[in-house]
Amino acid sequence: MIDPLARYHRQMLLPGIGREGQQAINAAHVAIVGVGALGCALADMLARAGVGTITLIDRDIVELTNLQRQTLFTEADALAGTPKAEAAAARITAINSTIHVRVHAADLTARNASDLLALSSQPPAVILDGTDNFETRYLLNDISVKRLIPYAYAGAVGTRGMQATFVPDAARTSPCLRCVFPDIPAPASVPTCDTAGVLGPTINIAAGAQAADALKIITSNTHLLSGTLLEFDVWNNIRRRIDLRAMGATPNCPCCQQRHFTFLDATNTDHLATLCGQRAIQVPGRGPVSFDDLATRLAPSGKIERSRFMLRFFPHERAGVWLSIFSDGRTIIQGVDRIEEARSLHARYVGA
Ligand SMILES: [Zn+2]
Repeated sequence: MIDPLARYHRQMLLPGIGREGQQAINAAHVAIVGVGALGCALADMLARAGVGTITLIDRDIVELTNLQRQTLFTEADALAGTPKAEAAAARITAINSTIHVRVHAADLTARNASDLLALSSQPPAVILDGTDNFETRYLLNDISVKRLIPYAYAGAVGTRGMQATFVPDAARTSPCLRCVFPDIPAPASVPTCDTAGVLGPTINIAAGAQAADALKIITSNTHLLSGTLLEFDVWNNIRRRIDLRAMGATPNCPCCQQRHFTFLDATNTDHLATLCGQRAIQVPGRGPVSFDDLATRLAPSGKIERSRFMLRFFPHERAGVWLSIFSDGRTIIQGVDRIEEARSLHARYVGA
């Protein structure tokens, strides 16, 4: 009989992993939230490493401009407008058919986080951050602190990146994300990949550090976590570390000390979101839509394209604007800058 672990031979040779560590990896569940550039790199590495269950969550669809750095996607995915979570799942399943991949082509919110992350049935050993916005990061941090689940944070814009793994403890001594970044930066104050671009290798450094930390946690090597916030600029050869252990938790941190889970307890999560990397705004869904009914209704007003996952509508009256409508009613409107404009297009074509 062929040893099912044979494919991991080179990984099992490593001190600190071995056969026992590999079995722990195969039994583990991790969640990757956001399957853009970071998420692709993470999913690729962790699927190859043999992580037994991987949850992929992403609200976006594959675009041509993603292919420069989002390594699991192809031109065919961009052409079909495949949801990133679906495209990534297909790719990593082809890489390693022995693992189980859970796919959620959805926006992670306070309302659905528990379901999507399987918090009550099979909570992840670590939550890996592949998001592009601080609202979702603060939500992940709330979940991490409340449920004592390690949170592997990273961010990359331009040629600069940051990475830190936060491991909450019941004694509340170790810092959380909000100890380091107390407030959400004002939207216009920080560069995004939309305005500053992003260099592919920047991503791999941050994601590599995240994935290594995840494997340390899964194989009970938490003593090897650096306990630092890594800050680097791959273009200008800068690399700095801030010692989070020495820093400790911020005494009045609203999250890990005062236990106010503002983002997890938010009841109004029906916000419209500007999507990073494109002129696009997402309007949340208000319930299931029938693609057949919608196609019939919209046919006189514009061009329609359909796939298994969504209906795409190009209104005659607005050149350069198109709506990608998912079966739960969630709609991404491309080619618009203003929230009001997105709201009105959504009301006109999809219905309030
Ligand atoms: Zn804190």
